Amino acid sequence: MIIQKDKLFALLEKLKSGGKRIIAPTKRENILLFSEIGSTDEIIQDYINTRLSLKGFFLPRSEPILEFRIHQKNVEYTTVLEENIKPTVVFGVRPCDAGSLPIMDKVYTWDYIDEYWVKRRESTIIIAVSCLDCDEACFCTSLGLDPGSTKGSDILLTPVGNDTFLVEIASDKGKKLVEDNAELFAEGDADKDSILAPVRQKLGKKFDLSSIQPWLQENFFHKFWEQNTLYCIGCGVCTFVCPTCHCFDIVDEGTVSGGKRMKLWDACQFRTFTIHASGHNPRARQDERHRQRIEHKFNYYPKKFGDTLCVGCGRCVRYCPVDLSILRILTMISQLSQTGSQTSRAEEK
Ligand code: SF4
Ligand code: SF4
Repeated sequence: MIIQKDKLFALLEKLKSGGKRIIAPTKRENILLFSEIGSTDEIIQDYINTRLSLKGFFLPRSEPILEFRIHQKNVEYTTVLEENIKPTVVFGVRPCDAGSLPIMDKVYTWDYIDEYWVKRRESTIIIAVSCLDCDEACFCTSLGLDPGSTKGSDILLTPVGNDTFLVEIASDKGKKLVEDNAELFAEGDADKDSILAPVRQKLGKKFDLSSIQPWLQENFFHKFWEQNTLYCIGCGVCTFVCPTCHCFDIVDEGTVSGGKRMKLWDACQFRTFTIHASGHNPRARQDERHRQRIEHKFNYYPKKFGDTLCVGCGRCVRYCPVDLSILRILTMISQLSQTGSQTSRAEEK
């Protein structure tokens, strides 16, 4: 099946006039970001990827989760979940970012069901677009993903030339969307593999993923961490731009008579993330905090859920202010594992 660009934009306009919020890549103050559009004219189509992922539409940077009023010993509260859920279509999602969503679903549903995440996921349709280009920071193919992967999408579109997209239906939501708007789609086919061959070749394979977890399990105390990550300045940018970093804090803001309970992004790279009330910090040094980020993504999460907590979108590589590239760290670990380099606790630091 195929769809022409004018029909695709007509579909987005139709969904918008039917009451859905349409999110797409746009330029805001010259920065490429996912944001709500007023018209399809605002959509940017020629891009590698947005500065921020679409995580914030499911897990906002900060949001009230309840409001409370205190009357002497009584506390009244109201939750504010429903008014924050809006039927949404996100268009132009790259396959790496779409692939981050099922990874995050596991985090938010494995024991406690996070209704905020789940309800937003249920009310959102993901229309992804395959990548025909990449930059030096991209590494999805080293993690078993692909610039034409359908993981996490409801519909995947692949540009095939002449303002035409090949359409792949990837979920029941995607199927319903196509069935409900069948007049906009047409019969057609294209050779997706040959269209994606150049970008796949450019991406290549940058490290051996199978070597990472075994090395991490054996080398928690390796001097590698101090030598290569102590210069991290703990700004947290890597975690905030990341589609799979998901830690949040909950704080009460208000007065003695009432206020709001807020849910806010937090980051393992901050010194205060693990500090105890006693003043003791189990991750006192920045290299220990950085090691945590790598261990979580490539050891702890895979051990629990059988996948990596990274999709190779490259954002943390592009935006780290001190050029502490996760891609370089993973490549070094992969090389170290081949040389069999290990350091026992006795040899540490
Ligand atoms: S760790 Fe970096 S490359 Fe991996 S998903 Fe997060 S931002 Fe993207
Ligand atoms: S790795 Fe870079 S982006 Fe991440 S906290 Fe350290 S300095 Fe900031």
